[in-house]
Amino acid sequence: MKSLYFITGSQDLYGGETLRQVANDSKEIVRFLNEKLSAIAEIVWKPTVIDSGSCAAVMREASADADCAGVITWMHTFSPAKMWIKGLQILNKPLCHLHTQANERLPYDSIDMDFMNLNQSAHGDREYGFICTRLGVRRQIVAGYYRDVRVLAALMQFAEVAKAIDFSRHLKVAMFGSNMRQVAVTDGDRVESQIRYGWEVNYYGIGDLAALSQSVTDAQIEEKLKEYRAAYTFRTDDIDAVKEQARYEIALDAFVKQHGVGAYTDNFEDLHGLRQLPGLATQRMQGKGVGFGAEGDYKTSALNAVLWKMAENREGATGFMEDYTYDMADGYVLGAHMLEVSPAFAATKPAIEVHPLGIGGKADPARLTFGGVTGSGVAVCMIDLGTHFRLVCANIELIAQPKPMPRLPVAQIMWTLKPNFEEGVRQWIEAGGGHHTVVSTALTADDIRLFAKLTGTEIVVIG
Ligand code: MN
Repeated sequence: MKSLYFITGSQDLYGGETLRQVANDSKEIVRFLNEKLSAIAEIVWKPTVIDSGSCAAVMREASADADCAGVITWMHTFSPAKMWIKGLQILNKPLCHLHTQANERLPYDSIDMDFMNLNQSAHGDREYGFICTRLGVRRQIVAGYYRDVRVLAALMQFAEVAKAIDFSRHLKVAMFGSNMRQVAVTDGDRVESQIRYGWEVNYYGIGDLAALSQSVTDAQIEEKLKEYRAAYTFRTDDIDAVKEQARYEIALDAFVKQHGVGAYTDNFEDLHGLRQLPGLATQRMQGKGVGFGAEGDYKTSALNAVLWKMAENREGATGFMEDYTYDMADGYVLGAHMLEVSPAFAATKPAIEVHPLGIGGKADPARLTFGGVTGSGVAVCMIDLGTHFRLVCANIELIAQPKPMPRLPVAQIMWTLKPNFEEGVRQWIEAGGGHHTVVSTALTADDIRLFAKLTGTEIVVIG
């Protein structure tokens, strides 16, 4: 379980009794937040910051603590902000500034000067906010009474995004082969990706995976087929083709474990040693939260893993997607890929089918097919503009397919764009958004905005 440090600000002018009350109040907030956020993160109470030294010490501790995904700060009293400068300069984790009070209402009948001096976040949080702004500290600001459902929702969102950023900073991405020949939007500056997001993106020969797949035993494959039979309908007699994908899944599982990898790419142009393009195998890997991007698209692969992590405590599907073709009359986008759509998007029991691919010149690959989920979501793309990365995020509505497509044997989903089809695609293209995305029905544009804010990434939100 990842933690968030809860750091309360005050100063040493007020005397012991006031500081004891400050500590008690902040412990009560932490107790309450732990009750509400227990599924997402542990909130760890830290002693009140009363001077520059205690501030620097706790920020150094937060920055070095591998379990700490972020920091929540709150000024119970006035806390002169020059004492926060050193600490904020040290902090290297996502920061949330909670602007709240221990009391929700003013105690009109009993309020006196002591109460007013103790409960002055209206005053202290402004002083602290100023220094954050002056230092250019990226942070989320959540304002309101800490027991309010909107405040809790915002703190949960911060916890989820902070955890995703922590995950991102330790993410390793394996590229089997390179970027698809001549394709621009899927390429990018891997050094800059590592500097900004922490992604260690490294190349591996597809032969490494092929060799691993050759060491898979028949007994392992039989076990894997039992899993498939329990979960899916078999709509094929070509069991050998299915076994081939089972072999790839077992090899991919072994590879990601061996190399500590959380996301990968492949490229249908470079499959030496594999008989099929990994279809069913890659669909299953995504279903386990391993990020994927096709045709060497490392950015989408990494983003897939990071957004899956962000959504792990929520209902809904998150996975790799491609805008394929349109129904222009109704303004529908058909999203699919050659094979690799995550079964997280399945609204019906998936079926295993084997069909030719028509591209890449390999054997007919086994894949999962299913009808897609419906509901609101986002389609998110990351592009490299040379000077900086940009996230393009479209608000979409996943819809039920109006008619079956009996001759299209791949997993697919359909959606509409906001504010409408023409404006949605026009703005997407103007922003430079590509054809590969991560689609999520678990996340909202606000979640992606917060990720962008805390990582210093430019974002364009459409609809
Ligand atoms: Mn593609």
